[in-house]
Amino acid sequence: MYIAEQIKRLRSELPEGVNLLAISKYQPIESLQEAYDAGQRMFGENHIQEMAAKAAALPKDIAWHFTGHVQTNKIKYMASFVSLIHAVDSFRLLREINKHAAKHNRVIDCLLQIHIAQEDTKYGLMVQECRELLAHEPWRELENVRIVGLMAMGSNTDDMEQVRGEFRQMKQLFDELKETYFADEPSFCQLSEGMTDDYPIAIEEGSTIVRIGSMIFGDRVYL
Ligand SMILES: *Cc1c(COP(=O)(O)O)cnc(C)c1O
Repeated sequence: MYIAEQIKRLRSELPEGVNLLAISKYQPIESLQEAYDAGQRMFGENHIQEMAAKAAALPKDIAWHFTGHVQTNKIKYMASFVSLIHAVDSFRLLREINKHAAKHNRVIDCLLQIHIAQEDTKYGLMVQECRELLAHEPWRELENVRIVGLMAMGSNTDDMEQVRGEFRQMKQLFDELKETYFADEPSFCQLSEGMTDDYPIAIEEGSTIVRIGSMIFGDRVYL
């Protein structure tokens, strides 16, 4: 019951235009089913094979979002069904996704992941790298992928003003890129940011997809 209540509470709390992505990585099928029965239809996973196994076991009207780091040799396991890939951080990856999408006659929606937090991680494009990718790489020629927005993780800190500043920077970047490259493309409209600890701030700063895991499902059990 806990999961259903959390889903319902969150959905009633989110403003219009903000989508709830339930991050279900490491959660058992029964937990996803409970969220589904409470009306949830967007789930996010971080491991491609885990997502594929869950997709096979659960109802077909679920939109599966991949929020983890993409390993190119595993794209083939999700190319037939994934609905949105959140963490694209190179042109090379975009090209690989394009190749697999073409085999299934699909156009796969992708977000560019921006490295905005203070943490030292190897994932995500620096702001300047993102500008350069869009300015110089032939991404418009990739007919089977579509860039529909940006994704980021805020810093893992108690300093919420720090996190707010990062989300604000993301919104500015989003607006800049929208105007420069996607002015005629209404499909470029997603800003994926905000997790259990910082989603209210992300929403205030313009998020359109909040990615919430532990608040819905409780703590993850890492096996
Ligand atoms: C795990 C994860 C989340 C959800 O985190 P919670 O703090 O449990 O809400 C969101 N986004 C990404 C990319 C994640 O890996």
